[in-house]
Amino acid sequence: MAKVSIALRGWRFDEETVFDDSGELRPIDEMEQDTRERLVRLAVITGNPCDACWLIHGDENIEQCKVARVVYGEPLHEVVVCDRHEADFLYWFREEGGAAHADEPSEFDEAFYDWFEAGNRAPDGYGGLEHVDTDPDAVPDHSGTVEMPSLEEELERMDDEELDALGVDLSDLDIDLDSEEVDDLDV
Ligand SMILES: [Zn+2]
Repeated sequence: MAKVSIALRGWRFDEETVFDDSGELRPIDEMEQDTRERLVRLAVITGNPCDACWLIHGDENIEQCKVARVVYGEPLHEVVVCDRHEADFLYWFREEGGAAHADEPSEFDEAFYDWFEAGNRAPDGYGGLEHVDTDPDAVPDHSGTVEMPSLEEELERMDDEELDALGVDLSDLDIDLDSEEVDDLDV
């Protein structure tokens, strides 16, 4: 089964929960709650500054923060980081006990922020760019080859009233089909 990333790397969706058999984006109100929550959350957080950059620079120097490219954790308690700070996050997750917080989503983001704010960082050259799956319920899965749907077309087919009701704009989201296999939780 193919996994898709939408807008940000990190969260991955079973393709069939997002698209129907003909490759059409499913109506958002027919999606499972978890999928819907993540999509809605993605619409909110896409384009946000990296959390780690923000901890360094703050609102007063927001222009120095890089845009987040990756999302980990659970909706509302997610960590979003830029490519550079992903290594710090992964080091924390794998080597500094971060993975233990995956079962406590409400503590997940704060635990990372505390660690980062205390001045902790990944060692220089830490090769952290291999993804981990922070979803505690995630099942390792295999991916297949599927055709890339046109995002613009898919979004045009969505019901505007549904999107308005959710108060979100999904039109800026990119959908990437990810052909890599999901990594096991590295705990
Ligand atoms: Zn950053």
